[in-house]
Amino acid sequence: MWDVLLSLVVPCFNEEDVLTRFHARVTDELSALDGEFEIVYVDDGSRDGTLPLLRGLAAADPDRVRFVSFSRNFGKEAAMLAGLRHAAGDAVVIMDADLQHPPELVHRMVALHREGYDQVVARRTREGDRVTRTLTARLYYRAINRLVDVELVDGVGDFRLLSRRTVDAVLGLGEYNRFSKGLFSWVGFRTTTFSYENAVREEGRSKWTFGKLLNYGLDGLISFNDKPLRAAVYLGLLLVGVAFAYAAWIVAVALASGVDTPGYVTLLVAVTALAGVQMVMVGLIGEYVGRIYYEVKRRPHYLVAETHAGRETGTAPADTRAAGASLWETVVRK
Ligand code: UDP
Ligand code: MG
Repeated sequence: MWDVLLSLVVPCFNEEDVLTRFHARVTDELSALDGEFEIVYVDDGSRDGTLPLLRGLAAADPDRVRFVSFSRNFGKEAAMLAGLRHAAGDAVVIMDADLQHPPELVHRMVALHREGYDQVVARRTREGDRVTRTLTARLYYRAINRLVDVELVDGVGDFRLLSRRTVDAVLGLGEYNRFSKGLFSWVGFRTTTFSYENAVREEGRSKWTFGKLLNYGLDGLISFNDKPLRAAVYLGLLLVGVAFAYAAWIVAVALASGVDTPGYVTLLVAVTALAGVQMVMVGLIGEYVGRIYYEVKRRPHYLVAETHAGRETGTAPADTRAAGASLWETVVRK
């Protein structure tokens, strides 16, 4: 008998097209589990009919449906954080609203969790993806795993089950710049991964543009350690070495065959290349300084505009119960 509460955390941003279908599918699946469940929807400042839909769902099933609605779009990371904070379950599954994460897999996750795993991670295969995206992803993960300390796996996203202690550990990491993939990996505990076939998005469209992906990739690189800075130091040393070698060579040539002035191209290339390298390095330092800037400001990750109303949640810690009452909940809890 499964006598614990399972929470489903669902970030939603403009998902009115699929939400009703998603809810029906998910409640079907979860009802088949022998245990209690709740669904925590997080409306990430949607500008379509998502919020009214959520109000309807919560009103129709107040015991099992909860929602948090942000004052504006704060991004999926913030939405997941809010969902985890509001989830009362002994195990929490994070899932996208667009049905790209097959709801039937929750059974498998719960089964594995019962076997004692704290994190059950669903890893999507890249079938059906564009070749370019698959290839860039592969290259990216190969590169990034050399650079960061935590292990990041291609195809592994936010679709996973977390045990209560894992959720608490993730919530204990108060950083402003959140790169969840890495945070989950950093937390550790007994983890298992299984693969599933990637489903094509049914309605609406992905909010990921190439630019966003690129920025996300850079975030992953910089969020976890200062190895890029160390790499910059080595590159600098290497360049100094090359400059010395080149100088020695020029002196040698001058001694052997006299002074030979032409060198306009060499000079120009060296100056522009070095200026470029310096620019990149300054940018790199800027990235870290920027992160410090955001951390010291201690702004909340999101602002809550509305919730399902501060109802009792049973096992939830006291401070999450009255979530609707505290606009500044992230600040308060820090
Ligand atoms: N999402 C969100 N806030 C955002 C962007 C996306 O809460 O600013 C949600 C979105 O509603 C969906 C999930 O995050 O449930 C994944 O988004 P999407 O499907 O656009 O990403 P992809 O599946 O392409 O990685
Ligand atoms: Mg999607």
